[in-house]
Amino acid sequence: MMDWVMGAYGGIKAATDITQSMLTLKTDAAVTTKVVELNGVLLGLQGQLNSAHAEHTALASRIRDLEAEVTQFKNWEEEKERYQLHKFPAGTLGYRIKPAMQGAEPPHDLCANCYQNGVKSILQACEDGWYNALKCHPCGSVIRTDKIQSGGSGIAISDYDPYGPRGY
Ligand SMILES: [Zn+2]
Repeated sequence: MMDWVMGAYGGIKAATDITQSMLTLKTDAAVTTKVVELNGVLLGLQGQLNSAHAEHTALASRIRDLEAEVTQFKNWEEEKERYQLHKFPAGTLGYRIKPAMQGAEPPHDLCANCYQNGVKSILQACEDGWYNALKCHPCGSVIRTDKIQSGGSGIAISDYDPYGPRGY
C-alpha cells in the first residue's frame, strides 16, 4: 500500500547521486547523459507523488465515511435507550417509547426487526385481517397488535356476512 514511500526515497537517493556525480564531469556529452538520467528519476518521483496523492485522497474519504458511521452509531446508541421492549395483546413485540423519555412526542412504537439492525423505524397503524396492526415501511414487517373489536372501526367476524346486502 505504501510502495510509493520506498519508491520516493529510492528516487531521491538516485537524484542526489546523479547530481553529485555531475560535479566531476568533464564533457558536455557526459553532462547530457546525466541530465537525461536525472530527468528519468524526476519523472519517477512525480509518479510516486501522484500515487501518494491518490492514496491520501482515498484514505481521507474513508476516514470521513467512518467518522460519519461512528456519529450515526453513537446517536443511535443514545436514541435506542429511549425505548423498551413492549408486548402487544396479540403476543407480538415492538419497542415502545418510555413514558419518561417521551417529551412532546406522541406515543409511538418502533419496529423490533429494524431496531436490532440499528435503524429507527416508527411503526404506522394499519389493519391486517381481523387485527389492528402496525406496519414498518422500511422492512415491510406487519405486526399484529390486537384483534379488532366488534363495533370498532373494522369489520368484526360476527358482523361479517359474505352474502349480505353490501352490494359487492
Ligand atoms: Zn422494520
